Amino acid sequence: MRSVGVEDSVVLRVDLQRHLLSGVRYVASPHQEPRPPGAAIELVVIHGISLPPDDYGGPWIERLFLGRIDPEAHPALASFTALRVSAHLLVRRSGAVVQYVPFHRRAWHAGASSWQGRSDCNDFSIGIEVEGSAAWPFLGAQYRCLAVVLRALADAYPRIDLPTAVVSHADVAPGRKSDPWDTFDWPRLRRLLAGDDASPG
Ligand SMILES: [Zn+2]
Repeated sequence: MRSVGVEDSVVLRVDLQRHLLSGVRYVASPHQEPRPPGAAIELVVIHGISLPPDDYGGPWIERLFLGRIDPEAHPALASFTALRVSAHLLVRRSGAVVQYVPFHRRAWHAGASSWQGRSDCNDFSIGIEVEGSAAWPFLGAQYRCLAVVLRALADAYPRIDLPTAVVSHADVAPGRKSDPWDTFDWPRLRRLLAGDDASPG
């Protein structure tokens, strides 16, 4: 996995032949399908996830996205075995990023949802899961990674308007979903997107 923090001076790009982030580990999830005809990529939905809940660094999030959770491996995961979900990207606690679905295809992350009066956000969004929980703050490496990734996505897919087209799962599924919770510092992400935290002094 590659860490894409600002400290690495990495400029990420989307390979528009494959719709993958160049240089980033890609593992194909079976939980994907074509987007509907004519659907443009216009939105990024930020999620929070930990598996088992509040446990970091294990293989379980990836196994969830790959449809390979063994319910007997961990009792806390039994309720996840029937889920068929995915995200385009996962940002680990370290700031490392992994891709599971090419951006031009539809990942299964938002569920019943709507944005600006349009339902089913999976049709026109990119889903980014950030490893975290409601119990612990997200980390600087994760915000720096997100800023780099979001700039690359907006460059590749110009219908994504930064920062207004970056929303939380809770924003598009209010009452049903609350991630990435109050532990996600939206002003911090917006400052990074504006370049306010990136000046070398
Ligand atoms: Zn979510």
